[in-house]
Amino acid sequence: SEPLKLKLSKEGEAAAELKVNEEQQCNGSSTTWTPSSWTTKPIKQDVVYTDGVAVKNALAKLECLPPIVTPAEIVKLRKSLQEVALGKAFLLQGGDCAELFDYCEANAIDSKIKLLLQMSLVLIYGAYKPVVRIARMAGQYAKPRSSPTEIYDGKEIPSFRGDILNGYDVEERTPDPARLVSAYFHSASTLNYIRASLASGIADLHSPLDWELGHVKDQKIKAQYTRIVDSITDSLRFMKTVGADSPASGLETVDIYTSHEGLLLEYEQSLTRRLRHPASHPSHQPSQLPGSIPPNGGTKKLSEVSGDGKGWYNTSAHFLWIGDRTRQLDGAHVEYFRGIENPIGIKIGPTMMASDLVSLLDIVNPSKSVGKVVLITRYGEHKIDSLLASHIRAVRESGHVVVWQCDPMHGNTKSTPSGVKTRQFSSILSEVGSALRIHKEEGSFLGGVHLELTGEAVTECVGGSEGLTEGDLGLNYTTYCDPRLNEKQALELAFLVAGHYRD
Ligand code: PEP
Ligand code: MN
Repeated sequence: SEPLKLKLSKEGEAAAELKVNEEQQCNGSSTTWTPSSWTTKPIKQDVVYTDGVAVKNALAKLECLPPIVTPAEIVKLRKSLQEVALGKAFLLQGGDCAELFDYCEANAIDSKIKLLLQMSLVLIYGAYKPVVRIARMAGQYAKPRSSPTEIYDGKEIPSFRGDILNGYDVEERTPDPARLVSAYFHSASTLNYIRASLASGIADLHSPLDWELGHVKDQKIKAQYTRIVDSITDSLRFMKTVGADSPASGLETVDIYTSHEGLLLEYEQSLTRRLRHPASHPSHQPSQLPGSIPPNGGTKKLSEVSGDGKGWYNTSAHFLWIGDRTRQLDGAHVEYFRGIENPIGIKIGPTMMASDLVSLLDIVNPSKSVGKVVLITRYGEHKIDSLLASHIRAVRESGHVVVWQCDPMHGNTKSTPSGVKTRQFSSILSEVGSALRIHKEEGSFLGGVHLELTGEAVTECVGGSEGLTEGDLGLNYTTYCDPRLNEKQALELAFLVAGHYRD
């Protein structure tokens, strides 16, 4: 059956129709973008709700709720990602594969944020670069699935598609529109707690003792980590002595941005708002910002297409990405993504052709704004060698300047003989190692990593210095989707990447 396609009834949407891209006009493709123009395109992974009225009411409610994040924050992240694209910073992104509403709980949030902070400390120290942190949190509730159904107890039932859509419990597999509104409130609560924790000093470099490693017992990792913390403590003491450690020194806290896969477009559309650009937006600073003028003398600035000092911001998260299954050039997801101001990611799997990659960049970033797009490569440890270099070359020749981020998780998922999804830690390390090497060989550089991880001591990926085996998977296997790195494996990976930059 046809999916429900709901038009926004918002007054003035038509008036605010945005001509995103004149080049596309010349190419004869569609030029008019609105938050709902995606509904005219073919869509993958769409949702069929049975109760249309309930969906309409849920979306109407979402449209009235305040933004979860603001343009000023979104543009700040965009500027930080420009730095990453230019090689001056490193991007760390991580979190659960599928975030559950139940993970909106203090301990679960604390342990993930702490792990991201610990990893970034290791990376800053090792790579001598600032680290931009994006959590896969506060909204990572929608999952694309390879099959819409699965067999349970001999019966075919709908697959679990994430808490925003249906429930993991077999009784709750019918998509429930009430979950749309619930997703908003769980996102907002999660981010509220993260914001409050940061404002209360959890990331304060003056108290690194609060960053004690949790479950990690490995002596080598502990020693390496303690050495970094001691060294930072020494440096801080020195800075205090010479008076350089003032309250404005920026050592009291850090920024943590949120992200999720922009899969459920009904939800994303409802939180897409036409808002005033902050003063820091490229349109307000025509010539100072390196990002608005790409090396090839790019075409035009974002403001030239709107003219009223406003733009369409997705206010559900700072950063959204398009999944590997929904990145069709003429599809609904690409259509939605091309109109928003947020920095965006695109997952690039082994089926991506170099020419399509460039077409995709031209569609979502016609002005070639530097760092607007993060290409998240996830080929698999054995395929990266035959694919990454050609993609790097194609992008370079196109004049686009992107952030290259390696997701070493999704091309390396395997099932054990008994059907448990896992990943070999050595495969994950190998893909990251190859990404670092190939970028270097191509005169490019790896800008960041995208990881599925949790602060809990889970046993979902095998290997690592702990030596987890397939037989150990049952000890603490708690993911509702893909297998995640535990604290120790995540830190080991951070040390590996940091070590590369030290060498
Ligand atoms: C994911 O990041 O969980 C995911 C589904 O990735 P991909 O789109 O790369 O398969
Ligand atoms: Mn996943």
